[in-house]
Amino acid sequence: MAGFDLHTHSTASDGTTSVEANVADALALGLEGIAITDHDTTAPFERARRAADGTGLEVVLGTEFSAEQDGWSVHVLGYWIDPGYAPLSDELERLVDERADRARRIVGRFHELGVEVSYERIAELAGDAPIGRPHIAAAVVETGAARDVPEVFDRYLADGGPAYVEKHAVDPVRAVELLVAACGVAVLAHPGLYGAQDQGLDAEVIERMRHAGLAGIEADHPDHDEATRARYRDIARGLGLEVTAGSDYHGEAKTNRLGSATTSREVVERLRHWRRA
Ligand code: AMP
Ligand code: ZN
Ligand code: FE
Ligand code: FE
Repeated sequence: MAGFDLHTHSTASDGTTSVEANVADALALGLEGIAITDHDTTAPFERARRAADGTGLEVVLGTEFSAEQDGWSVHVLGYWIDPGYAPLSDELERLVDERADRARRIVGRFHELGVEVSYERIAELAGDAPIGRPHIAAAVVETGAARDVPEVFDRYLADGGPAYVEKHAVDPVRAVELLVAACGVAVLAHPGLYGAQDQGLDAEVIERMRHAGLAGIEADHPDHDEATRARYRDIARGLGLEVTAGSDYHGEAKTNRLGSATTSREVVERLRHWRRA
């Protein structure tokens, strides 16, 4: 299996496997590289790089940056960013605090719905990671209110669900500006999974992101159907953007398997050239 999996999570956010395990699995699968794209952090990159040292596997520094548009979440993947660029690192830090506040608000919603989940247990499950909905869902399963994590999302936590609370975040155009200003490369993650009934992100917003320096669109995401892939490949072609693929691996927190969607080395090399010096 060749190519790069450009979208992976670990225990540094809401995945269930360590970055070391992800690196070992990527090597076993014969991947050429993986990007470490935990939500709103670049913290695990150094550990991943050390784990891959001397193996030939390329580890790409990344993050999946939270933005919002009209109250819906939008995710922007940032690669090769300078983690020390303060305007971006300040916003990432703020998002981690915002995630903790939002988790408390979501716990309040669950209590109103008669589900006695505790914030302390959620924080314990998250450990050092920014708190994400999968941590909350896992704690809800422990209360017996649902059988498994997908059921918690279906009944309560999916975007727009009865326990859903948005996080306050920058808009997607600002997200691209910050990633580009941090000398990174910005790629719109899974554009088909946003808004009510996953209607997808409007081409008009993507065009404005393009003007801010967006380099690519993750049209090939495991949760996109064929029509959605075709729609966003067309938009990418029309705007002169790269098309990328990544598995959005979350370990046991999602069914997506590591390496199940890959980007060719050729596209990765083109992406690298979008970096501004
Ligand atoms: P958050 O960043 O806290 O808003 O949580 C986003 C994460 O929740 C995503 O990266 C997915 O891992 C997970 N997620 C979002 N929607 C669903 C869903 N409908 N079913 C299962 N997992 C989901
Ligand atoms: Zn996630
Ligand atoms: Fe995402
Ligand atoms: Fe993701």
